[in-house]
Amino acid sequence: MLTAPYPYDALMEITARPKTVFVQGKGSRLWDDGGKRYLDFIQGWAVNALGHAPPAVAKALADQATRLITPSPAYFNDTSLRLAKALVDQSCFDQVFFANSGAEANEGAIKLARKYGARHKGGAYEIITFAGGFHGRTLATMAASGKKAFEPLFEPKVPGFPKARLNDVASVEALISDRTIAVMLEPIQGEAGVWPATDAFLRELRTLTRQHGLLLIVDEIQTGIGRTGKRFAYEHAEITPDIMTLGKGLGGGVPLAALLATEQASCFEHGDQGGTFNGNPLMCAAGLAVIEEIGQPAFLKSVTETGLYLEAELQRLSARHGLGEVRGRGLLLALDLKLPIAMAIASQAFEAGLLLNAPQADTLRFMPALNVTREEIVEMIGLLDAILTKVGAARRVA
Ligand code: PLP
Repeated sequence: MLTAPYPYDALMEITARPKTVFVQGKGSRLWDDGGKRYLDFIQGWAVNALGHAPPAVAKALADQATRLITPSPAYFNDTSLRLAKALVDQSCFDQVFFANSGAEANEGAIKLARKYGARHKGGAYEIITFAGGFHGRTLATMAASGKKAFEPLFEPKVPGFPKARLNDVASVEALISDRTIAVMLEPIQGEAGVWPATDAFLRELRTLTRQHGLLLIVDEIQTGIGRTGKRFAYEHAEITPDIMTLGKGLGGGVPLAALLATEQASCFEHGDQGGTFNGNPLMCAAGLAVIEEIGQPAFLKSVTETGLYLEAELQRLSARHGLGEVRGRGLLLALDLKLPIAMAIASQAFEAGLLLNAPQADTLRFMPALNVTREEIVEMIGLLDAILTKVGAARRVA
């Protein structure tokens, strides 16, 4: 194993990170190279649905690696067929394309919508997306995102993504024209700070898109695979979208994403879509292990119950420290701090051995493993309570 001093400079500097080097993980715990233990409420950015190194995923990967890693995307393989069938059986969609990242799955969704527009709607290509939305870091998905920090970057932008306001159906309607082919959104805007689309808004969008012959695309890269207490967040609103993208939790920690479409929307022709690693059986084996675990009868019920417990504990903490609201659903929650202290709190938490995410200056986001225990939640709240007390005391002195 590599030991210090580490060749940090061998990696491109794409973000500020602590010099800590992680070497091991188990469930909700991570260990660095010095043996320090961390409680992880980030979980690879809501990726490790079953926590670190889940036995079911590790076994599936090991078994698959000794049998078949990749036969080439030019051929079928049994594992990707099994995973595709399972996803289709568990959702309102009929066909799946596997990808390697959320951005790639969304890029595929954008292409599919444009293809649909070319075939069925006189070349309509615009996809209405939302201020605050986040869909990835490829050129098209950055243009589709409504993230302020992306605005000055990488000109010229990919055109065709007018922005509406979340939970404001009139703002969507005002953007519809002959050029429009789809509306695309996250059921909960994660990167923006955990802002849910209401169930009523999702239903209104479904009605509006049907009235205008538009596709409804849900980006469930963060909300899918049980994160909100249902397999897919669109189920809460009891709607059936035309296209959905999955990523993050689907692979339980390995790079696996998916683009799903109804039979009507699934209109790619040969040559439109593909990729060397797409649907490779190694990653699909991990995906199968994850969705088998999530499909256990008690699993989603426990995500809902644990989510409500975490929400209640966060609300108590908020009341104790005079903070703001708790938002979100299931195990995707945010605490509004009402002050731009989230980064400072996340960095103090890191020192104290707690991994917390600050997606906005005034917001902490909680996205633990879906099998996080109540004891781990109590421990996290205790650590955060102590940090908030310290920060409060420092502010009173200042
Ligand atoms: N869409 C949503 C809703 C996301 O949260 C993310 C990642 O945070 C993405 C897309 C991009 O996924 P990836 O980072 O795997 O490309």
